[in-house]
Amino acid sequence: MSGIFGVVSKEDCTKDLFYGTDYHSHLGTEYGGMAVLGKEFTRQIHNISQTQFKSKFYDDYKRMKGNKGIGVISAFDEQPIFLSSKFGPFCIVTNGFIENAEELAQGLLKKGISFTEVSKDTINATELTAKLISQGKSLIDGIEKMFEKIKGSCSLLLLHKDGIYAARDRFGYTPLILGRRKGAFAVTSETCAFTNNGFKPTKYLKPGEIILMSESGIKKKRAGANTNQICAFFWIYAGFPASNYEGINTEKVRENCGRCLARRDKDIKVDVVSGVPDSGTAHAIGYAMESGKPYRRPLVKYTPGYGRSYTPPSQERRDLVAKMKLIPIEEIIKGNSIVLCEDSIVRGTQLKNFTVKKLWDAGAKQIHVRPACPPIMFPCKFNFSTRSIDELAARRAIRALEGHDPEDVSEYIDHKSKKYRKMVEWIARDIEATTLKYQTIDDMVKAIGLPKEKLCLHCWTGQ
Ligand code: SF4
Repeated sequence: MSGIFGVVSKEDCTKDLFYGTDYHSHLGTEYGGMAVLGKEFTRQIHNISQTQFKSKFYDDYKRMKGNKGIGVISAFDEQPIFLSSKFGPFCIVTNGFIENAEELAQGLLKKGISFTEVSKDTINATELTAKLISQGKSLIDGIEKMFEKIKGSCSLLLLHKDGIYAARDRFGYTPLILGRRKGAFAVTSETCAFTNNGFKPTKYLKPGEIILMSESGIKKKRAGANTNQICAFFWIYAGFPASNYEGINTEKVRENCGRCLARRDKDIKVDVVSGVPDSGTAHAIGYAMESGKPYRRPLVKYTPGYGRSYTPPSQERRDLVAKMKLIPIEEIIKGNSIVLCEDSIVRGTQLKNFTVKKLWDAGAKQIHVRPACPPIMFPCKFNFSTRSIDELAARRAIRALEGHDPEDVSEYIDHKSKKYRKMVEWIARDIEATTLKYQTIDDMVKAIGLPKEKLCLHCWTGQ
């Protein structure tokens, strides 16, 4: 996935753009990009897989001049794309995942439209989006038609002489928030990008809503829908603690999740409550507050230089990051019965090999693993595209128990069923935990605080 940020100011916008974009660094590890419009467009893209956005763009942003600009931190594609179209030149950044990208690209190729940003044998999804939009009768018509054609999600910022068009994907899987400060407007994927830049969130864009942000103000170009399917994973794992989505703070939800987990845990002896940093930390704080047991840090993250272990695209790199970033503290671990809160168990291999193992090796007496969400049963169609159904821990358990992959897994989704219990026991043995208890779907939804029908819960329920 990606994080996108845009700003329009009465003055030069590049400093705001630089810092605003940088506050999305937790959302991608591959490319960073900025485009600014002053007298002319200037654009810069760098590979940030080994170096932080800040150090790569520090000199660039001082050279760029303009009062409106867009930026991106991207997990896959090189962005922003710069296109000369019948509506005039524009730059565009996107956040989402287009499931039928190949099919749509083939359709355009047949019409004689070519692609230039082909990398790793795939079409650049942002370029595809730009070319789909440029087929419309106007920019708004082009965005609307693109929304209709794509399967998946696509939120975008489009920088044009009119201003910045901001469009949230039509099902609302990914957020887009408008903010304001004296003399400037900004739009962001993450509200944490606003606070220190002096912006206050003024509007959470609705699914499918399109606005135009310019020096003269905000114009609504397309009304949004009232139905929502925002990704529940923002609060559980992917989002930043200081960010709000749909007005709901991430850290607070994680504390609620931890409290729910603790309420269902009356039968274990606990000396230490801990979380797998970073996102497991707040789940653990909630657990500790509810249970009255001390929150301690048996595993600390060596933050400088190590990013997320989930977003890097290759397994090898994910494993290396997972191995190196957590350092166990034997003095906190030895002889203790530890509750280990984790945001989720996807494959389970990193948890087993690099987290639980480190605790056993340092002398833990018992390890009780408590994921803040239910077992993940389905890969994401809309955003995180890296997991396949075969590698999910729950699916491996079901395959081992049944001897094949059953089509209907509804009994394994029901946390009260015998099959669910067997599956969880299998995963506990596999990750070498003393006990494993997952969050229930209802507790997770309650912890978030939105009605169930306003959340995407596909990863857990297939719905
Ligand atoms: S399928 Fe899962 S990861 Fe994808 S949007 Fe839905 S809840 Fe989020």
